[in-house]
Amino acid sequence: MIRDGASYLNALQDGRVVYYRGKRVSDVVKHPVLGVTARHTAQLYDFHRQEFSPPLVVRERESGEEISAFYQPPLQEDELRGRGELIYQTTRQSRAVFNIVKVVGSDALFALLIATRQMDEKLGTSYHERVKRYLQHVAHGDIATVTAQTDVKGDRSLRPHQQADPDLYVRIKERRQDGIVVSGAKVHITQAPVAEEILVIPCRAMTEQDTDYAVAFAVPAHAPGLKMICRPLLEVEGAQHPLEGPRVLHNALIEALLVFDDVFIPWERVFLCGETFYAGVVANTFALWHRYSAIRYRSAQADMILGLALELAEANGVVSKGHIRRNLTALILFAEMQRMGAEMAALRATVDAGTGIVCPNPIYTNLGKLYSNAHYLEAVQALVDCAGGLAVTAPGGEDYTNPETREYVRKYLAGNTRVESEKRFKLFLLARELVGLLGGLETVTMIHAEGSIEASVIELLRSYDFRPMRECVDQLVD
Ligand SMILES: Cc1cc2nc3c(=O)[nH]c(=O)nc-3n(C[C@H](O)[C@H](O)[C@H](O)COP(=O)(O)OP(=O)(O)OC[C@H]3O[C@@H](n4cnc5c(N)ncnc54)[C@H](O)[C@@H]3O)c2cc1C
Repeated sequence: MIRDGASYLNALQDGRVVYYRGKRVSDVVKHPVLGVTARHTAQLYDFHRQEFSPPLVVRERESGEEISAFYQPPLQEDELRGRGELIYQTTRQSRAVFNIVKVVGSDALFALLIATRQMDEKLGTSYHERVKRYLQHVAHGDIATVTAQTDVKGDRSLRPHQQADPDLYVRIKERRQDGIVVSGAKVHITQAPVAEEILVIPCRAMTEQDTDYAVAFAVPAHAPGLKMICRPLLEVEGAQHPLEGPRVLHNALIEALLVFDDVFIPWERVFLCGETFYAGVVANTFALWHRYSAIRYRSAQADMILGLALELAEANGVVSKGHIRRNLTALILFAEMQRMGAEMAALRATVDAGTGIVCPNPIYTNLGKLYSNAHYLEAVQALVDCAGGLAVTAPGGEDYTNPETREYVRKYLAGNTRVESEKRFKLFLLARELVGLLGGLETVTMIHAEGSIEASVIELLRSYDFRPMRECVDQLVD
């Protein structure tokens, strides 16, 4: 089944427990701020009516039923590349804001398919069929899934079982005949308050003393005991005029602290329960898939930043100046290194022996992600240098609509006469949205989301094959 935005929005009125600025939200869709984030995801569902290449709606291999392409595990390199292309295109069409729902859920489901196949073979467990059934359930229902991996983690130098409070990593509190009871919290979980289902997976490798923390499961967003405490969406609250929120008033993401206050999970939805070794396998495999998704959505954002810098430089009449050309070169590098990472990750994909799933190459995925993490602030510097101070000091949208001030804004914000003064003004408002309203959020997102810089460094060094380089030197010295 393929759904539209209205069907998805209707499903969110389910009694879920969501708090925004200290108040319980009775209806996330009608909420003045959270409604924006729900409609952002609704657009992803409405994209089903549009033509995409590759298609966004595909036939499930086994049943022939129409499903979202995001729920079809890639079995060919071009399917993996196509998945990346769809992430890029849906981000572009969502005003360069990642339309993360289903993408991040399927990133986790592919990781679980791969890890549970290995685990079942080694330990004789029977998780893999459960994950397959659950994937069919969300694919056939076209359900909005997100993933909660990051635990609150307490003291980062301590393992889960060593923490002062046992709930600082999500844990199995009770094992019952019909399922498990979990407690703890996950943090920063994007779009959980407007999702239908949440995949919960471990965020790190575990030792044998961490048995109760090696847990993965799926939970409905309205499950009894699950509470979601949202961050304030300062960017939406701050966009006081439609001209000042060209992106965020239509497309925005919410993050929340998810508290599991003794939540019951039936066995059918439990995908890891105490098998400590496989906690690390799930965590790392998800990170690989999610970083591949990251460099595709980040490419779309990088394209927008490059286009904005170019048009601002033109509007300012400085596009041919030497330092502006260097800025544009830095922005081309920023965009193309990520695109190249994604293309190479699909071209040099690896095939998981147990499932046949074609996985992104870890070297090129982490290279692209690392470049993105480490160079975002340089990209912003290049944009701001092209723009000048009006990137923050331009008058407000109201000044453009008020007849008393409008002509002054038009007259004195004129730049290169080949560019309309109104267009130049709107370019500055788009820049202010990025570096002002979204400035702090984007800085932290670009450094930490989908894993910190160090996480990519560790993965890159772990996966990199140094042998040819060593041989090259040894031939010279041996
Ligand atoms: C906007 C945004 C959206 C996000 N969305 C999601 C989501 O949907 N789902 C999800 O699961 N997560 C999500 N995340 C979480 C993201 O993956 C984490 O922020 C990231 O993994 C870093 O973890 P942290 O925030 O706990 O920071 P920390 O891990 O506390 O990092 C702070 C510093 O401590 C270092 N550090 C931490 N532990 C160690 C250690 N043991 N040894 C040495 N150094 C260490 C880090 O490298 C870093 O330098 C999101 C984050 C952001 C910012």
